[in-house]
Amino acid sequence: MDTVIVLFNRDLRVHDHPALATACADARRVAPLFVVDPVLALGRRTGFLADCLADLRESLRGRGGDLLIRWGDPVAETLRLAGELSAQAVYTGEDVSAFARRRERRLAEECGRHRMGFRTFPGVTVVPPGALRPSGGGDHYRVFTPYWRAWNGWRRREVLDAPDVVPVPPQMEAGPLPVPGRLAPRLFRGGETVARERMARWLKRSVAGYADGHDDLAGNRTSRLSPYLRFGCLSPLELASLSGGGGHRGGDGGGGDDYVRQLCWRDFFHQVTSAFPRISRDDYRPRGQEWHDDGDAAQAWKEGRTGVPIVDAGMRQLLTEGWMHNRARMIAASFLVRRLRVDWRVGAAHFFELLLDGDVPNNYGNWQWVAGTGNDTRPNRVVNPVRQARRFDPHGEYIRRYLPELEAVPTRTLHEPWRLPAGIGGYPPPLVSVG
Ligand code: FAD
Repeated sequence: MDTVIVLFNRDLRVHDHPALATACADARRVAPLFVVDPVLALGRRTGFLADCLADLRESLRGRGGDLLIRWGDPVAETLRLAGELSAQAVYTGEDVSAFARRRERRLAEECGRHRMGFRTFPGVTVVPPGALRPSGGGDHYRVFTPYWRAWNGWRRREVLDAPDVVPVPPQMEAGPLPVPGRLAPRLFRGGETVARERMARWLKRSVAGYADGHDDLAGNRTSRLSPYLRFGCLSPLELASLSGGGGHRGGDGGGGDDYVRQLCWRDFFHQVTSAFPRISRDDYRPRGQEWHDDGDAAQAWKEGRTGVPIVDAGMRQLLTEGWMHNRARMIAASFLVRRLRVDWRVGAAHFFELLLDGDVPNNYGNWQWVAGTGNDTRPNRVVNPVRQARRFDPHGEYIRRYLPELEAVPTRTLHEPWRLPAGIGGYPPPLVSVG
């Protein structure tokens, strides 16, 4: 073939990129394209995305190529570029959200109409969604443990090298990068280069301690690679392979096993979303819950002002950093749906707006899990914030880090909110009893 367009979405990398690698093998010219879709309200993720695109552009330029950036409807812009270049085909990565699948279907139809080839490639997950089917029937796994077993037995494809050369068509206008909004948190710099440095450090120094440390709220002992996985700056397949754990290789019995298990959770929710694309709107397992329409309580929760320090610390971490520890996410989410009895959709929309790693499968899959409408086999599970605080923030370090107004409060009082002196540092009394 003479010219192939590679349409990037949330696979912003050159390593282990099946669509890019295949295009470089198949065609004389490869046009890497990203279309900034104004419909996608990326909010605080815009700065991170801008970093990712700038870095990808640099990587491609270093290989003789470029990243072409266009603005508008991805299907229309891809077709327009294809017309300009007389391209023979469009290659892209497959994704699972309803939005992404609609875009993919439209693109396939338009390519067909214009007699152009269209191919999708894996790469968003370790095991492609839909590749594993439960033996008892059904189009996807509803329960994690059997999925994990099957996932470990899956024969993974090889991790692909980055192409040496990306022969871009001559004299293309590169197009402008998005400009980050003023309020974007800058704790994480986006891009594959930073992501690979972080991944290497994590694998060398920290993954071994993951089994013991991942629930330590104050310790920062998780990988914090989620925003990079969200935008595909890292290949989950490469990360899983390098992590060394997992029954896949017989397991190392150490942090690697537990770590790879978390990557499997990520795949799990992707295959659920692929089979149930309405996951962000409808109960996966409707249980007839009645939710309280309590706008004030929901607002207090969003602002980190529920009067329950362990909940508020998590919510303030989200507001300031655009990221939140997994344990804190569970505590805060459970508090909203179980104690305040506010609809999970309210909480999920807030998380989705603020999280740098916010994506449809993991955000809504986890929210429904916590709310008991999703894939939890114990849908009535309640997370007790007092016990969780004692266990996972035993010295109150995490709470004090995000609630400086409680700096001088003794740890026991931080854990037992009903003991907090009224109005200390302007901090509110608990919205509900949590004893
Ligand atoms: P690590 O502990 O280092 O784990 C490694 C990777 O495994 C993560 O980067 C992530 O990709 C994956 N992973 C870990 N835990 C989970 C999990 N429970 N479900 C799915 N994948 C997991 N994760 C997101 O990536 N995006 C979201 O929008 C999101 N929303 C969540 C909402 C709620 C209510 C809850 C309880 C969890 C949510 N998670 C989400 C899952 C999890 O909290 C984050 O993936 C994790 O905290 C990211 O930090 P890390 O990279 O240090 O994780």
